[in-house]
Amino acid sequence: MINRGFRYKLIPTQEQNSLFLQFSGVCRLIYNLALEQRRDHWRAYQRIHEKKLNYFAQARELTALRAEFDWIAAVCQTCEQQALRDLDKAFKNFFSGRSGYPSPRKKGVNDTFRFLGREVEIKKMNGKWSAVWLPKIGWVKFRNTRSMRGKIKNVSVTLDSNGWHASFVCEIEHVAPANICPSVGIDRGVANTLTLSTGEMLSIPRSIYILERKRRRVQKIVARKKRGSQRRIKATRRVSQLSARITRIRRDWQHKVALNIAKRFGAVVLEDLNIKNMTASAKGTLTAPGRNVRQKAGLNRSIRNQGWGGFETILAYKLEERGGTLISIDPAYTSQTCSECGTVDSMSRESQALFSCRHCGFRAHADHNAAINILRRNTASMRTEEGRWLSDEVRTGRMAIHPENPLAGALGRC
Ligand SMILES: [Zn+2]
Repeated sequence: MINRGFRYKLIPTQEQNSLFLQFSGVCRLIYNLALEQRRDHWRAYQRIHEKKLNYFAQARELTALRAEFDWIAAVCQTCEQQALRDLDKAFKNFFSGRSGYPSPRKKGVNDTFRFLGREVEIKKMNGKWSAVWLPKIGWVKFRNTRSMRGKIKNVSVTLDSNGWHASFVCEIEHVAPANICPSVGIDRGVANTLTLSTGEMLSIPRSIYILERKRRRVQKIVARKKRGSQRRIKATRRVSQLSARITRIRRDWQHKVALNIAKRFGAVVLEDLNIKNMTASAKGTLTAPGRNVRQKAGLNRSIRNQGWGGFETILAYKLEERGGTLISIDPAYTSQTCSECGTVDSMSRESQALFSCRHCGFRAHADHNAAINILRRNTASMRTEEGRWLSDEVRTGRMAIHPENPLAGALGRC
C-alpha cells in the first residue's frame, strides 16, 4: 500500500465560500486554544485530573465545548478533532527533537481544515467536472484535471493565493512490475536544468524567468509603499499570486518530464547534491563575510529556480510505480572526468559548456560528459575502470590528474 496525493482547485459557491472561512476559522481557534492549554495549564490539568493532557483529553473537552457553544457545534466535529490531532503531532515532533515548539496558526496563512475519507463522497458530473460532498457544506464543484485512484484516506481544504483547493490523500494497492528498461544518468545544472546521458537536454520553461523578473519588480514596489497601506496589501497579494503561478508552472513541467523519464528508463542515476547546502546563505556572518556574495546570491536563485529537490521526489515515486529505481552517487569529479578515457583533469573543462579532454582529445558538451560519468558511477566496474586508468597515469608518470585529487593520491599508493 502506498499513499498518493491528488490536488484540485475547488469552485465553491458564495455560500460555500463563507462556510469554508467559518470552518477554517473555528478549526484555527480550537488549535490555538488547545495550544495555549498545553502550554500554560498542563501542570494544573495533570494535578486536578491525574491524567496527561494529550489528544484524547483535549478531544473530550472539545465534545463538552460543542454542547455549550453553538458556533463550535456548527462546524464538523471531525475537522476540529483533526486540528487537535495536528497539534498532538506537532508536540510529538517537538518532544522528539524533530521540530521547534508548536506556534499558533495565523489567519491568512493557515486557512485549512481536514475531513476523513469515510465522510466524503465524490461524483463525476461530466468529462471535465466533478464534485465532492463535504459534511455540513454539501457538494462542491472542482475541475477534474487528474483522475483519482485508490481509497480516500483524508481530504484537506486549503486556501492559498489562487483560491480554495482540496488535497486528497489516497491509499493505492501497489505491486511493482518488473522493469527491464535501460539505465540513464542525469546531470543537473543551471544553464540546462537536466542533461541526460543520451545527450538530451531539458530546461524549465522560459516563462518562469520572465515571471521571476516580474515578481522582483513588484517586490520592489512593495518595499516602496507605506506599511499597512491598501496599496502595499495589493502589491503583496500580487507577489504571492506570481509566486503561486511560478510554482504551478514548475510543478507541471516536473511532472511531465519525470513521467517521460520514468516511462523510458528503469534506473535513473543522479548526483547526490545537498541542495540545502548549496543554497545556504551566501552572505556569511558579520565576522566572516562570504566571498562573491552577489554572484553567489544569483547562483542560489538559479538553483532554487530549477527546483531539483521537488523533481527528485516526483521522479522517485513515478519510478517506484513502474518498478524502476532512483540511485544517488557521489558527485565528486563527474564534471572533470573524461567519459571517453577516464582522465581526471580540471583543465579539461574548457568553459561552462565545453568539455575537451587534454589527454585523448575527446570533445563533448560538458553536461553531457558529466551525465555519462554519472551513469557509469553507478556500476562498480566504472570505479575500477577509472582506477585502472588513473594508476596507468601514475605509473607512466603522465600526471594529468588534478594535484589536489585525493582519489589519485590513494590509487598512487597502491
Ligand atoms: Zn579523454
